[in-house]
Amino acid sequence: MMKPLVFDNRFIRELPGDRITDNYTRQVSDCLWSAVQPTPVKQPSLLAYSAEVASLLGLSDEDMHDPDLVQTLGGNGALPGMFTYATRYGGHQFGNWAGQLGDGRAIYLGELVHQQRRFELQLKGAGETPYSRRADGRAVLRSSLREFLCSEAMHHLGIPTTRALSLVTTGEPVVRDMFYDGNPEFEPGAIVCRVAPSFIRFGHFELLASRNESALLKRFIGFTIDRDFAEWWPGTGLLLDVDNPGQGMIEAWFTEICARTAIMVAHWMRVGFVHGVMNTDNMSILGLTIDYGPYGWIDNFDPSWTPNTTDAQGRRYCYGRQPDIARWNLERLAEAFATLLPESNGLSQGLSHFDTVYFDALTSALAGKFGLDSWQAGDGEAINDIFELMQRAEVDQTLFFTHLRQLDISNPQLSVLQQAFYTEQGLQQFGDDIQAWLQRYSLRVQQSTLSAEQRQQRMSASNPVYVLRNYLAQEAIDLAAQGDNSRLLTLLQVLRQPYTEQAGMQQFAQKRPDWARNKAGCSMLSCSS
Ligand code: AMP
Ligand code: MG
Repeated sequence: MMKPLVFDNRFIRELPGDRITDNYTRQVSDCLWSAVQPTPVKQPSLLAYSAEVASLLGLSDEDMHDPDLVQTLGGNGALPGMFTYATRYGGHQFGNWAGQLGDGRAIYLGELVHQQRRFELQLKGAGETPYSRRADGRAVLRSSLREFLCSEAMHHLGIPTTRALSLVTTGEPVVRDMFYDGNPEFEPGAIVCRVAPSFIRFGHFELLASRNESALLKRFIGFTIDRDFAEWWPGTGLLLDVDNPGQGMIEAWFTEICARTAIMVAHWMRVGFVHGVMNTDNMSILGLTIDYGPYGWIDNFDPSWTPNTTDAQGRRYCYGRQPDIARWNLERLAEAFATLLPESNGLSQGLSHFDTVYFDALTSALAGKFGLDSWQAGDGEAINDIFELMQRAEVDQTLFFTHLRQLDISNPQLSVLQQAFYTEQGLQQFGDDIQAWLQRYSLRVQQSTLSAEQRQQRMSASNPVYVLRNYLAQEAIDLAAQGDNSRLLTLLQVLRQPYTEQAGMQQFAQKRPDWARNKAGCSMLSCSS
């Protein structure tokens, strides 16, 4: 028998809910959530779970196989103490205000408290809610497996992220037109139970501001600071009036959100992660990576690369633009807060803080990646030069750094990087330039105070050996769709220690194979699946 879980559902207790309790698609006003039941599914079956997340929640391996829990994780019923609801938010999508969005397919199970830590639990793909608009509230196996694996991989890379407890197949098909080309197909349905201290997004605040629900906006800000920033705000020396937080508090808090967002994005840039849909409804107030959809990982270095087919034209959310877009999103959040304040000077200062924190986080990440002791004048230029060469020569970003670590500084040879090139032509054409750059780099490293061993340690800590390349996820998906979840479990295991070479796992540390270059799921992904 499972020990009872402890829930303390502050969101629904302290914030107003929708008075309508029928589940139909509509515009909702003057509240933050709507009560809704998950729609039961035929046959929930546990495909994988994260033992680390289970243990954060006080669940043992045995608990994870408890039939009641598995049913609950598939949306069939709720355990004692749980309360199920969907929240109301809006957002800017691809640069435009989209009005009400909300949890169209995520249903909360409540706030679980374990060892003094609070976790919101959500089932993604558990059926329609009042916010489902024209969609079905479901998720397919491929997108659920991608969210499950990547959120755990990001955590183990040391990147702030929401987590995933479980991946459950529903035994029910879901219809999807994967390429939006009028060819819908049946795909297996699945549900991820995701976990975070808070799933509150920028869009929650934006929607209240856009609807002039000022009193509720204030209260919601007070609630969020009190519940989700409880470890931060006492250090500000400011007092928190939860019903009516003061200007100084709102400004200080916004500055904190800017800093967290900057740190998150600097990490993405460090490891080559491209979120793919950085709409303001996909931005977490805690600075967590959230809403894994058409994300991707950089193979050959290319700042203009986007995995999202919907974004192929504008490339708004390509790799290189992520810092600018994060700032743009923070500006939209500032506008929402500004509706409560007589002047917005303090918010502008918060945005400048984003620039400072991002610069510091990025330069220290780059210093780590290149194994430098500190960031010095001239480093920026040298690093730009090699990134430009990597792009033109089609060099794999991950392999470049893991191999650069092996460079003999007293006798730098291009051959250590050979495997990182995608084409023979790139090697021929740019080999001399890159060799010259390696010489320049070696001189820089020789001036550094780090020993060879220290340099290699720094580089190992900043440069992952294993990342969830798009084709690796796709291979796991293809096998899982045939009923074989062994690859999924292997990847979950390997990605637990992404910075450490693991015996027998060499195949997961290779550059993208040729067949995956332009294949669906490997280089092209669609938005909401
Ligand atoms: P996304 O692009 O996944 O961030 O989703 C944007 C909005 O659409 C959010 O409000 C989602 O909850 C909603 N949404 C996405 N997919 C579905 C779906 N299959 N059913 C209902 N709502 C959805
Ligand atoms: Mg979303």
